[in-house]
Amino acid sequence: MLRFLRPARKRDAGRVLAVSNIWLRQGSGCAKIDRKKEVRMKKGDIILILLILLAAATSFGAYAFFAGSGGAEAVVYIDGEEEGRYSLKKEQTIELNGGTNTLVIRDGSASMERADCPDQICVRHRAISKNGESIICLPHEIVVTIEDGKEAETDAVVQ
Ligand SMILES: [Zn+2]
Repeated sequence: MLRFLRPARKRDAGRVLAVSNIWLRQGSGCAKIDRKKEVRMKKGDIILILLILLAAATSFGAYAFFAGSGGAEAVVYIDGEEEGRYSLKKEQTIELNGGTNTLVIRDGSASMERADCPDQICVRHRAISKNGESIICLPHEIVVTIEDGKEAETDAVVQ
């Protein structure tokens, strides 16, 4: 009786993986197969989770991109005075300060393409696109700052 019961019990324990008595009797071989199956299941789960995360990230990224760049502007200050606001969505070239500096907006970011200042720090500065980033040309007292439309409104209320 016991001989018949034992494999039955073992099969019970391994019923999730539906392993036959033959595999159970071989011991280690069975464990190998079990592990392989488990790994395969986990791989499938990981791929599924990654796909879900990717979908979520893509939709969030698209939302952030459209919401973020929608009102973003390059705001130019010369001698502390606001000179102009230029949307990052529109490709354009702006001559600043009577032509001493040339600001270029391209691919959703702003950069100082040319300047006649001696240090050329503003020209070497990488393109800016995120809220709060700025390019400063000290010799000409020019500041280009990225501002989000919404936050600019809040600033106006504070002032
Ligand atoms: Zn400069």
